[in-house]
Amino acid sequence: MSTAVCTRLNEIHIEFVLNDHDTFLFDCDGVLWCAPVVLPGAIELLNLLTQLGKRVLFVTNNSLKTQRGFSQWLNEIGYPAKPEQVISTAWITAKYLKSINYKGHCYCIGMESMVEELAREGFHISDGIGPDPVSPETDWIETNTIKFDDQINCVISAFDIHVNYLKIIKAATYLSRPNVLFIATNDDVTTPQNDVAILPGEGTILASIVAASGRSPTILGKPRAPMFDSIRLAFPDVKPNRTIMIGDRLETDILFGNRQGLTTLLVFSGATSEKKLDTVKQSAEKTASDRDLLPKYCIKDVQHLLELIIT
Ligand code: PLP
Ligand code: CA
Repeated sequence: MSTAVCTRLNEIHIEFVLNDHDTFLFDCDGVLWCAPVVLPGAIELLNLLTQLGKRVLFVTNNSLKTQRGFSQWLNEIGYPAKPEQVISTAWITAKYLKSINYKGHCYCIGMESMVEELAREGFHISDGIGPDPVSPETDWIETNTIKFDDQINCVISAFDIHVNYLKIIKAATYLSRPNVLFIATNDDVTTPQNDVAILPGEGTILASIVAASGRSPTILGKPRAPMFDSIRLAFPDVKPNRTIMIGDRLETDILFGNRQGLTTLLVFSGATSEKKLDTVKQSAEKTASDRDLLPKYCIKDVQHLLELIIT
């Protein structure tokens, strides 16, 4: 259990943050940008930390882009990221399958980024990507018309804007076969919100497959350990006690950092308001498990972090 006590980061702590950390892990949405808007100070901060000799990595639960896609986007907005600096859930899924020496095809509810990232490690997604429409004329699905691939030994659940009933039937049916693996990129119940609509996240899709199949997945993204395992595999010299995780969500970024023994810094530019943090602080006094949701430090946003460093 972490003993995290949330302190507002100031000019005294910033000395410690800079001197005692060589690796800066940045959550992306809500910290560096609120897509598609890049947040003030984000690019200057990333460039400054890099100039100071810090290792900067991008740790995102978003499976919609490949490592290369994220690095291209970062290049476009003014930070010369290399693909290896991106730790995304599409990429870690491929690395995870490789680490367990997986053989066979995959059924993946997800987007093209999953196909591309898995293909780079030699894995084939034979079905599940893109629209899989049900005829508008039908009010039932003829199960004997569904084609199943006998070589599928793994079902992957990732974020998919084309998810539908037919895809859940296929996922659950594959999972009813003995020894078929069940992997999920992440379980964020919502994706970053706007004022117009609630956007269900991968966790919502995953919950329907879990309900239909009765199976429990191996979840790879934050706050789960496989995310950190893939960082350590790629950068064996990363030391948890010299690493800081900067994020906007308590249940993903901060819990992840605390569980892995990293310093944690919460920003209020994304999913967590100061009011929500206060509520969690209060519940943490009564419920020990909630203490792992508390960051060591908090700060308004990356602009304020940048100003603390340069002044
Ligand atoms: N999943 C999806 C589909 C997203 O679009 C996002 C953010 O854009 C996330 C997860 C969360 O990403 P992050 O971990 O960078 O906050
Ligand atoms: Ca985030």
